[in-house]
This record gives sequence, structure tokens and C-alpha cells, in this order.
Amino acid sequence: MRAGVFQAARTFDITQLDVPAAGRDGIVVQVAACGICGSDLHSYVEGVFVEPGQVMGHEFSGPIVEVGADVEGLSVGDRVTAVPLSVCGRCPRCIEGMGHLCETGLSQSIAYGLPGAFAEYVRVPKAVLGKNVFLIPDSVSDAAAAMVEPMAVALHAARSADPDPADTAVVIGLGSIGLNAVQMLKALGAGRVIGIDVSDSRLALAARLGADVIVDGRTQNGLAAVQELTGVGVGGVGARADIVIEASGIGALLAEAVSMTRAGGRLRIAALYEGPVTLDANQVVQKEMSVRGTFAYNGEFPTVLEMLADGRVTAEPLITHTFRLDDLDAAFRAQLDKNSSIKVQVTP
Ligand SMILES: [Zn+2]
Ligand SMILES: [Zn+2]
Repeated sequence: MRAGVFQAARTFDITQLDVPAAGRDGIVVQVAACGICGSDLHSYVEGVFVEPGQVMGHEFSGPIVEVGADVEGLSVGDRVTAVPLSVCGRCPRCIEGMGHLCETGLSQSIAYGLPGAFAEYVRVPKAVLGKNVFLIPDSVSDAAAAMVEPMAVALHAARSADPDPADTAVVIGLGSIGLNAVQMLKALGAGRVIGIDVSDSRLALAARLGADVIVDGRTQNGLAAVQELTGVGVGGVGARADIVIEASGIGALLAEAVSMTRAGGRLRIAALYEGPVTLDANQVVQKEMSVRGTFAYNGEFPTVLEMLADGRVTAEPLITHTFRLDDLDAAFRAQLDKNSSIKVQVTP
């Protein structure tokens, strides 16, 4: 089969590899679509997170072509998507049901240690229907199903903020995670959602996905705009947003997010930063804010598939480009262009 093998920063080899075998406990999926993730971009540009020789790609969907003898409930031809994270099942975090924080397993995940899905076929180890492998409803396309992974990240973040109709929620940074956070917050019942970004196309898409107010960070100060919409915070400082989701990965905007959040409000950090961030810890204390990081997902895949199937959320508007596997390098360059792309997918 053909596969895109990471060799070094900005270098993929498109080469011929053996088609993987399912083994007793696994399945083999013929990759219909595989998205490029923000973390993949870090690997592409800086050469981090992965070793040379790694087949990347962890946001995938497609039909099963082989099922291991010990796998129950899955058949050749079933359209599926799968959780790429492997968990050990034995460490304290796994035992308390927080497998996404597994202390040992994540180094042997699909696209991180195990071969990924920028290839014609990908093996899913320890395949269990309803646990790490999910059937795709007929009404959900392969391309949309390959969006379930990043949408699960956004649902995990939005859920952790516990939105309700009385809440005003702000999403800072409208990339794939931020845009999905906008539609997840609305789907979960947030009363008013404000989206902030510096790209016309991303702001327009946020409005289409349900943002009630969009703020253009090039022409408006984000904090001042939120202050205008929610009122000035206690003691004349900052604003009164009930929920803020920071999805930009820009340290200065995380500091601003602290000021936007009301006393007793919820700040959720869903991005990664280039280095340590300076923020006003006194505001966190005096406002008794809840500040929480949100990482990956823990059981959100089936909910996202249901939400896609019944139309509460949508994936297609976020998929801006599709490339063939042979053009993997061009696909990554397109994903790097933040003004024109949201989600780039590869269709082997
Ligand atoms: Zn991803
Ligand atoms: Zn574990």
C-alpha cells in the first residue's frame, strides 16, 4: 500500500509499505479520509512529537477490510471511525475511568508509535465496538466521520464548562477546535456565544455555526468587546463572561481570558502554548474562577456521531480542502495557511 512516511521537518516520503494484518484482536480499515490535526502541523514544521519513519494521521474513517478472530460485533464492510489513543487499562487514571490521561499507554497510539492513517490502510489494535471503534450512521459521510476526533476534543472542552441558557460563553481562536467549540456550546444550550478571531473566513464560519456575536480581533480589542457585551467586571476590572474557552494557543490571549471571566466563572484551556504563560493569578483567586485544562476526549465519540446524524452539529463546512495521499506535502502546506484553511483532509 502507499503511505506517507514522516522523515524530518517538512519532509514526507510517499512509499510502498505492507498492508497491515488485523491480528487476533485488531481490525484493518481502508482509509477513506484522514484529517490533518494542529498537533500534526507542529510535527511537520518543528519535527516534534514523532520520530522519523512514523506514518502520521489519527483523524480517520473508512470501511473495515479485515477483522481479527477475537473481535466481536464488527464485520468486513462496516464503515467505522476509531479512537487513536491506546490506554493501558491498569494505571490509576485508567482505573478511575480517565483513560485519556493514561500514564503509560499513549506512547503506543495510532500515529504516535503505531502506524497512522496517512496511508491506504490502518490497523486498529484491541478493537472493541463501542469502546474504541464506532459504526458510522448512514447519514454521516466518510469525510464528516473523519472529523469526529477533533469534534470530540471540542465537545470534551464545551462539556467541561457546563453551559446553560443563562450563560454567555466566549471562544477565543476559531480554528478547528474553536469553531467546533462554538457549535458544541450552542448544541449544549449556551445562551449566547461570542467568537473572537482575526480571519474573515473563520469569523464568517463561526456565525454560520451559531455564534451570536463575532469579534474581529484586528479591528476590535477582544476584552473591550466582551466588556461591552457582558458588563464591566467586579472592581471595574475585566468583563463578566460566564464561560471562556481559550483555543488560540496565544499566551497573551490566555491572560486576557482571565480578565474576561466573571467572578465564579469557568475558564477552559483547550490549546497548547509555545512556552510558559504569564497571567494575573490574583484575578483567578479573587474571582474564585474555575480554571481547567481540557485534553483530548473521554467517551465523546458516540455522542459526536449522534449529533452529526441528527444535525445538531455539522462537519462539512469546516472541511476546506481535500488532497490525494501523493500530495501530502501540499496538504500540509494548505493546512498551514490559516487564512484559507480550516480542516484539510487527505483521501488515500
Ligand atoms: Zn487530532
Ligand atoms: Zn493507563
